Formats: sequence, structure tokens, C-alpha cells
Amino acid sequence: MATGLKNSMQRLRSFKVKLVLSFAALLVIPFTFIYFNLDRKLEDAALADIKASLLKHAMLVADTLWANDALAGSRAGLDRTVKELGARISCRITVIARDGAVLADSEKPFDQIPSMENHSNRPEVMAALNDMTGAEIRYSSTLRIDMLYIAVPLKDSDSIRAVVRLALALDRVRYILSTTRNTILASLIFGLALALVLASVLARHFMRSVNRFIYASDKFAKGDFHHRIYLDSSDELGRLAQTLNDMAAHIEEKIRFIEVQNQQLRAIFQSMVEGVIVLDKEAAFVSVNPAIERMFAIDLAYAQGKTFLEVIPNNDMAEVISQVLKTNVVVSRELAIVWPVHKTLQINAVPIESAGSVTGCLIVAHDVTEMRKLETVRRDFVANVSHELKTPLTSIKGFVETLREGAFDDKEHAQQFLKIIEEHTDRLNNLINDLLDLSCLESGESFLAKEPVHFSELADKVLSGFGVAIKKKSLMVKNKIPADLAAVADRAKMEQVFTNLIDNAVKFNKDKGELVIAAQKGDRSLTVSVGDSGIGIPVRDLPRIFERFYRVDKARSRELGGTGLGLSIVKHIIELHGGTVGVESTEGIGSRFWFTLPL
Ligand code: ADP
Repeated sequence: MATGLKNSMQRLRSFKVKLVLSFAALLVIPFTFIYFNLDRKLEDAALADIKASLLKHAMLVADTLWANDALAGSRAGLDRTVKELGARISCRITVIARDGAVLADSEKPFDQIPSMENHSNRPEVMAALNDMTGAEIRYSSTLRIDMLYIAVPLKDSDSIRAVVRLALALDRVRYILSTTRNTILASLIFGLALALVLASVLARHFMRSVNRFIYASDKFAKGDFHHRIYLDSSDELGRLAQTLNDMAAHIEEKIRFIEVQNQQLRAIFQSMVEGVIVLDKEAAFVSVNPAIERMFAIDLAYAQGKTFLEVIPNNDMAEVISQVLKTNVVVSRELAIVWPVHKTLQINAVPIESAGSVTGCLIVAHDVTEMRKLETVRRDFVANVSHELKTPLTSIKGFVETLREGAFDDKEHAQQFLKIIEEHTDRLNNLINDLLDLSCLESGESFLAKEPVHFSELADKVLSGFGVAIKKKSLMVKNKIPADLAAVADRAKMEQVFTNLIDNAVKFNKDKGELVIAAQKGDRSLTVSVGDSGIGIPVRDLPRIFERFYRVDKARSRELGGTGLGLSIVKHIIELHGGTVGVESTEGIGSRFWFTLPL
């Protein structure tokens, strides 16, 4: 059990003690008050009663003695009367002379009376001699008991002749009082015990409920809102349990809703093409998505908690981040990064705000490298096309002007000029055809009409078209493709591929050179090659040879009627078929262009 729960238990245990003590105090305080108050009141009332009764007796005795004129008679007679009256009222009667000498005593034998102590200094006797009623409680050391003394004067008309004193042992009063006291004490102890038992039962019952609350709140604190408090009571505790259960159900539902939302957001975050970085206000990594991990070749586990520059050494980005964190504004910028690879990123950095202050920064990085590259390619393409069109057009315009200005009449030159104009027009025609082919291939609008194609036969057909050029250069042509070698492809497009490759192999060949067409069948693909023993291609130009308008020697290519688009068209057609193209070449020795087609 958690220490928190333990402490609460201890506190509750002390709560139990408090409850029991409160109950005890509730009983002890009034009982003590009652005990002492009642005790004193009872004692006072009992004594007052006894005193009154004893006084009446004393007066009665005095009256009787007076009526019998007992003082006038013999001492022995007086003593007898006193003993008789004493026996009747069950208390000691003493008759004392004015000088304090005892004349008679109901409890002492007659012969011992003369030896009795003089009573003149007894307070009650002194009061009676002063014509008052004397009353005194005194401890009798002989009887070891508290005694109540009442003395009244025995008067004849005006003068006091003697004092009659009655004495009563108070042990009975004391007994009654102690019994009352004991009863109260016993009730108090019984009440106290009952209160303790009741308080402890109540506390245990209360604690059982409270323990359930503590257990439940501990569960809630740990995030388990599935737990419920089961209290079978309709009192305030029952209502509290119901409220807490409702609250837990509500929170549980909210959490489930947030979790679903979180999962959706995480899925978006994970699958986003754009890279997302979340930084705290110290520019330390909080989170990154897989796109960023790929972009910067980093790992979230590694990056988390580290500062931006520690993980991504890019000062431009760091500057953007610090600007956002400092100024609390959105910053958008296109940045070139060199690490881990050259890339162009469009960065959008947004401050994350909480309670009016910046608590972090969210960066969305969009990789625009390809877009920028394509833009450059398109720009270059437009420039190239314009240039390619401009050269023959300028030439045509020049010769047309020359003809108009008089050369038209010079038959021999006019024919020559017209031939040149025709050549340029053919070039323009070729160029436009190639451009149309290329744009058709690139736009994805060209469909492949696939059929079984016999490559040996196709190569022969194309070669026959180049008969004049081959003869002119006295080339040795070898078609090594096995006659039965066939693959499913677009026949017309494959013919264009052969035409472009053979055209180059003838154009860039030496006189009496070789032109070899071969093919090889692999497990999954077919490789066809067109080799020549021509001028070859410098190593530095090899990687770019299949690009549009890329030519090793522009002037020479143009002179030979090339457009610089032939190889680009070959590449597109082969890629449309799912194959690849390549070249091996040694300057001055020859080239071997090849392409593969999946079988
Ligand atoms: P072109 O119309 O100029 O031939 P291509 O795209 O067919 O355009 O070829 C591009 C360039 O590649 C040529 O200008 C040439 O410089 C080089 N090239 C192509 N084929 C060969 C080859 N067989 N031998 C040497 N260079 C070649």
C-alpha cells in the first residue's frame, strides 16, 4: 500500500481516538459536574434536615425537663429521666449546668458523670448559654465518628438555668452519601464504557467507508478511473460516493475521447510527408516525426531533450527558431541544407503559446528539393528549346532575306540556299517531332500496345533504313540477336528505340567501323545492346548523356542532324516498359548502349 494511504490510515486512527475521547469528554464533564454538585447539595440538604429534627428533639427534651421540673429534683432523678428520653429518641442527651459541669448524660453511667470534662468551652454550649441555638459537627475521637451537636438553653422566665445538648452520630448520613456517590460513579463508569464501545463501533463503521474513499482516490490519482466506490447507504457518504463515481465515469469518458483524438493526431503526425519538430522554450527537442528522422538521419530517442544545434547542425534553422522563441512570431523561410544531404527545405516555424507566453516552437519542414530541381529543369528546357528553334529559324530567315535581295536570280546559288533552308526545315521538323514524342511519353498519355516482338527481325528492319549511311561509311554491321528471341513490348516504340540507338551508332562511328547489335536473355530480363567502334564518350559526360538536349559536341551533333533528344526518348520508352538503360564507352574506341526489358 502506498505511504500516502498508510499516513491517511494513521491519521484516521487518530481520528478514531479523537472521536472516542470526544465521547468520553461529553460524558465525563457533565457527570463530574453532577457528581460534585449533587454530592454537596445532598449532604447540605441531609444535614439541614437532621439539624432541624435534632433541634425539635432538643426543644422537646428541654420542654419535658422543664415540665417535670427535673432540675429541681435529685441528680439521680434527672439522670434517669435523661436516660429514658435518650433511649426513646435514640440519641445522646447531655444536660450541662451554667458553669459547664455535666449534670446528666444518657450514655454515661451515673457514677461517672462527676468525672466528666467541663463542657463550658464547647462552641454549641457557649451559643446556648448566650440564649441561642448552638450547632456543631465535630469528630469524636472516642467514637471515631463525626458527631452533630445541638444545644438549646433551658430557661426559667428570664435566666438560663442549664443547657440541653443532643448528640447524633453522622455515620448514617455519611453512609447514604457514599452510597449515592458510588451509584453516580458506577453509572459514570458504565456510561463511559458504553460511550467508548459506541464511539469505537461508530468510528470503525465510518472508517470503513472512509477507507473505501481513500482507496478509490488513490486509484483515481494513479489514473485508474475505472474503479468505483461501492457504499450501500443513502446518507451524505453515500451521496459523496455517487458523486465521485459519476466524476470518475465522466473523466474516464473524457480520457477515452482524448486518447482516440491523440491516436488520430499521432497517426497524422507519423504519416505526414512534411517533417514536424516540436521544441520546448529552451529549443530542446520534445518530439519529431518519422519524416524528420529520415530528412536529418536522426532518431527521436537520441534527439529528445537535446538542444536543436546539438542534433541538427544548421545555423540558419537555429536562427529561425531563436527568432520565433524570442519574438513570438511565425517565421517562414526557404533554406538550403547541406547535412546530411543537400536539400532545399521550406520552413514554417510557429510559436507554441500557453497562458500568454511562449512555451515552445513548432517547425514544419517541407522538402521542396525535387520541386526546385524540376523548376530548374523546366527553365533549362524552355531555354534549350528556344535556343534549338532559334538557330535554324535564324538561318532560314537569313537565307530567305538573301534570296529576296537578289540571290533568287542566281539559279545555282538559289538552289543551294533552298537546299539549306530545306535542311533547316527538316531539322525543325525532327526537333518538333522529337519534342512531341517526348512530351507524349512524359505526360503519361502514351499507352503501350504490347505484343510479342522478335528483336532480331526488328533490328534488321531498322538497319535496312540506314542502308545508305552504312554504305557511305563502309561500316561492318553484325546483328547477333538470336532469331527466336522475342519479348512482349510495344513494337512501334521498340522500333523508335532501335532507330535512335542505331542512328547514333552510325553517326558517331568511324569509317569502316563496326556496328554490333546483340541480345542476351537472363532469368527475369532481356538485355539488348547496340555497340559501335566510334568516337566514344568522355567519362565526365557519361552520367548526363541521357538528359534532354545533352550533347558532347553540340556543333557536331547539329551538323549530323541531331536534336539531343534521341537518348532521352530511348530512356523514357524503356522505363515505360519497366526496364533500364545504360552505356559503357571509351573515348576514341567506341560505345555500347544497352537496355533491359523485364520478361
Ligand atoms: P543527338 O540527336 O545529338 O544524337 P542523342 O540524345 O541521341 O542526341 O545523343 C546525345 C549525345 O550523346 C550526342 O550528341 C553525342 O554527343 C552522344 N552520343 C550518343 N550516342 C553516341 C555514340 N554511339 N557514340 C558517341 N557519342 C554518342
